[in-house]
Amino acid sequence: MTLPSPLLVLKKVIIFIYPPRCLCCGRLLSGESPLCPACLDKWHAERQGAASPREDGILYLAYYTKTHSVARRLVLRAKNSNERRLYLFLAGELSKLLAQHNITADYVVNVPRSPAAVRNTGVDQSGLLARALAHIMGTKYLNALRHKRRTRAQKTLDASQRAANASSSFRLARKAKKSLAGCTVVLVDDVATTGTTFAACEKLLLSAGVSSVVKIAVASSERGGQKQPKNMA
Ligand SMILES: [Zn+2]
Repeated sequence: MTLPSPLLVLKKVIIFIYPPRCLCCGRLLSGESPLCPACLDKWHAERQGAASPREDGILYLAYYTKTHSVARRLVLRAKNSNERRLYLFLAGELSKLLAQHNITADYVVNVPRSPAAVRNTGVDQSGLLARALAHIMGTKYLNALRHKRRTRAQKTLDASQRAANASSSFRLARKAKKSLAGCTVVLVDDVATTGTTFAACEKLLLSAGVSSVVKIAVASSERGGQKQPKNMA
């Protein structure tokens, strides 16, 4: 008989003291999934209700509804948390969606958050998502895009202002330019709203010679620039 390793013992002690809880509702978990059976059922229903991809080509997992959807709770949790199991779950779901569309890529790149937002929460959720997705896909993460300082928050602007603001909000990282020519890229963010931020980042990547960009988000608050149907809100 071999003795369990100290790390395994420590893990069991931690699980005993802090038993894992559902990422969405906080109920104690008994299985391997980070969601309880009720939330997992709800999540699957939300996934089935998503008309992905949107008209602007963005793939997404579920609507970011105004009610207590699983998608909304997970996205809000990710904004303030760097929990490994949360990001592995979301990235695993994103990788399944990409596999359904037979999409592979040379690099996974994230839509960058503003330095001020990262300072406020201590979490760069799109970067964590992209790294976890690259890990699961067995491909490389590239920190290719930068958020310029002193840009206005998109939610304070109208549609035309958003497009202009988004296109001037980002730049390519110098070191990334050499790596990108002729490559395929999966571009990741947590939430897709009007799609202008995604479009601005896509344009930058294409200008660096990227051959194709697949845009993917955990949740969509709008459908291809149109507000989601009322019965989904
Ligand atoms: Zn739950």
